[in-house]
Amino acid sequence: MYPWQQAAWTRLQQMRERLPHAILFHGPAGVGNAGFMESFAQALLCENVRPDGHACGSCASCGWFLQNNHPDYRRVRPEALEDEPAAEGEDAAEPAGKSKSSKAPSKEIKIEQIRALADFMNISTHRQGLRVVVLYPAESLNMPASNALLKTLEEPPPGTVFLLSSNSLDRLLPTILSRCRKFALPMPSHEEALAWLKEQGVQDADSWLREQGGAPLAALLEAESGSREEMEALLHFLANPAVDGALRTAEKLAKASLPALVAWQQRWLYDVFSVKLSGKIRYYPRYQRELAALAGRVSTGSLNRAIKAANERRAVADHPLSAKLFVEDMLLEYTSCCA
Ligand SMILES: [Zn+2]
Repeated sequence: MYPWQQAAWTRLQQMRERLPHAILFHGPAGVGNAGFMESFAQALLCENVRPDGHACGSCASCGWFLQNNHPDYRRVRPEALEDEPAAEGEDAAEPAGKSKSSKAPSKEIKIEQIRALADFMNISTHRQGLRVVVLYPAESLNMPASNALLKTLEEPPPGTVFLLSSNSLDRLLPTILSRCRKFALPMPSHEEALAWLKEQGVQDADSWLREQGGAPLAALLEAESGSREEMEALLHFLANPAVDGALRTAEKLAKASLPALVAWQQRWLYDVFSVKLSGKIRYYPRYQRELAALAGRVSTGSLNRAIKAANERRAVADHPLSAKLFVEDMLLEYTSCCA
């Protein structure tokens, strides 16, 4: 549960008194709506709900839910989202799921997935409680699947609750809309989102957030993939150290998280040392060739000097006088030891 969802959560609890058979959560993408809905699903199934409406997290029902095998719970998503952990790939416009088969995983919810719910809804519940179906994003229902779902929503089986989520209501069939109770989820305020991103350790959080239109989870995702690029730029340099490369790379890494840079460099040096001693690589096996070349060429004394410098740098990485100078200095020092 994210801080900007608290008020909505409280508001949602009022619905528990007379639970509609279908709730359609709608709101902007990248703010955690699917996770919110899944928390509610878990709370509906929980056998020992807390006074604030949250699931207890420790009853048998919660245990099954958290292991993804609750007999009275089904989650329906496009195949392309199934490779990702629950609630994370939720709003991704282009899910990055990789299929093991050669065929690209479907981005649609198909009629077979809706038909498969029929059996689930025809047997009595295991815990004599509710049956909960979570479905998202609702706009990925293709036409046959929409029509099949519509039939179910027209004659809902007793004790069954549908929780749907959508980022674009205008892409849903009006007949589906009319059969669901709508529940709006808010966009967090800029301050709220910014504070949360900073807590996650995102550097330059304000620009990431702005670039993602204020959606904090989308910003986090981008910031993290941004740091992957930075890591590659750093590792590429560490594999081929040179003075001019140091200055160019420092330019590229100007916005990177300094503690992260130092940590990556420390791991790299660990690997070089380890290859030298035992031939083993722990962190960066994909750089096996480069690590072996360095290990063969750099003396143990120089390597120790580089490791000591990196350890000292780690201590000041949180408060450097100038980020750019810090990175340049770090890369030049490494060059003097390892080039
Ligand atoms: Zn529980």
